[in-house]
Amino acid sequence: MKANYYIESMPFCEVFDKYSIESFEQGLYIIPDKKANRKQIPAEKAEDAMIEFLNLGRKFYYCEDVKDVELISFVEKYGLLGFMEDFSANKYYVTSNDVLLRGCNLITGKDALMKTDLLKYMKIFFPRLKENQIEKLIKECNKILSEPEMEVITIQELNRKLIFSEEYGEPVKMIAEYAKILYGALRANNNEEEYKRINPLISMNKLGNEIHRVPTEMGVRFNYLKQGIDYNFLINVTQDVSTLKACKYCGRAFFASNPKAEYDTPGCKNKANVYKSRGKVLEKNMIFKDDGSIATKIAPSEDLSKFFAKFLKK
Ligand SMILES: [Zn+2]
Repeated sequence: MKANYYIESMPFCEVFDKYSIESFEQGLYIIPDKKANRKQIPAEKAEDAMIEFLNLGRKFYYCEDVKDVELISFVEKYGLLGFMEDFSANKYYVTSNDVLLRGCNLITGKDALMKTDLLKYMKIFFPRLKENQIEKLIKECNKILSEPEMEVITIQELNRKLIFSEEYGEPVKMIAEYAKILYGALRANNNEEEYKRINPLISMNKLGNEIHRVPTEMGVRFNYLKQGIDYNFLINVTQDVSTLKACKYCGRAFFASNPKAEYDTPGCKNKANVYKSRGKVLEKNMIFKDDGSIATKIAPSEDLSKFFAKFLKK
């Protein structure tokens, strides 16, 4: 059985050419530099973004040092994830004073819907803005929503005010935690981990779609980076024979040209063979880091809820 669907080939996220890591009251953020230039990323790039994001996750997962420049170069290539959009259960959350957070998010830490104050929620993602500036922004968004316009255009305009705004930033802790979770889900899918289910943070929430009758086909449209990454991840790990794998030697995520392949490069295959020829065993959760040392320790999941809860209460 083959479904007649395709990915809408249009820009799906906007990226600035310059970001920095800045410290705010809420902690460290990645945020665009003032006066940075905007560019658009085509939907076809979502797969590359997923692989690179998983490989950032591998480093967080195995407690390796991740340098600021690595995070910044990922974000300058693909943009921020779009967590503010992803964690709200309602699509047009700016229309109400409260925002309903979806069951799984990195803010409340509860697997339950939770209502919270819209201003406080937005403050987490707009660390430079004062309350009255956020109020003004909400008004501008509501004005966009009051215009009779095609929904796809409205979403683009709203995103530009919100998750693709030059004032929108994401906490480094949140990006790191999500990268780690996604990489953990890849390892779980390779049946190497004790937990077997796909993490519910991986979401198809609010995916755009286009249904055409002639020929009968369904188009899927991504509206932000996390959605493109999550979609590609789910499509790959739910295949009967998945070619998305973690290298058995270095742990890097890769697409295997042959479904039986276990290593991402001939170099890793050779090194694994040398290791085995010395009578040593490659343990299930063991990888060789870039510096050649062995990692087996997995970073515990961080409970970010305590961290962010105080900003929602203020
Ligand atoms: Zn490898």
